[in-house]
Amino acid sequence: MARIAGHYVYYLWDKNGVIIYVGKGQKQRMWGSAKEQGAFGGVIYKRNLDEQTALSMEATLIDHYGIDTLQNIKPNGASKMFIDKCPPKQHGTRKNKPLGIVPKPLRKDHYEKYKEVLKQGVAKARRKREIWLNEYLADKHCHYCGESETCSLVFYPNDQEIRKFSKETGLRKELRLRVLEKIRETKIVCMNCEAKKINDIELSPIL
Ligand SMILES: [Zn+2]
Repeated sequence: MARIAGHYVYYLWDKNGVIIYVGKGQKQRMWGSAKEQGAFGGVIYKRNLDEQTALSMEATLIDHYGIDTLQNIKPNGASKMFIDKCPPKQHGTRKNKPLGIVPKPLRKDHYEKYKEVLKQGVAKARRKREIWLNEYLADKHCHYCGESETCSLVFYPNDQEIRKFSKETGLRKELRLRVLEKIRETKIVCMNCEAKKINDIELSPIL
């Protein structure tokens, strides 16, 4: 009597790529089994087998992985007939990494870990943007009294607006030009003269 070769042996893995189940079946059996076992994926290990061969191979695979590490309940009979000839492959897709590969930490973890460093970097860039504005003022003097102490010079009016804008803008030349355009709409004055201007005290520019 001819043997019916419609059986296959399959195995299933979890989301970490760990093989959790070995089975034998026909037709759509593997998919039903995958659902039952809560598997992430599965593959047919060997197809076109008669039932006896499939059972034997199933048992061999269960023996190979060890019943204790699988979700299988029954070890069946064990034989060594196929395992050495066709060792099962490890499977890994993008979502389902092969065994032994530690998944990369999530971006969020990375951010948490380096949050302080990143913040420092941002603060440093901001300071640099403040420095260039002060460098710009270094050779300037008050429009009214000639005061040249950089730290006492302001843009009148809109000093706060310009400094805020400068901090928000990058350091690239074309971005600086946008700040310089705004500066052109102002006068550079010292804080004393600024106070006088705010209080409507008449000032005349130095020659
Ligand atoms: Zn002045």
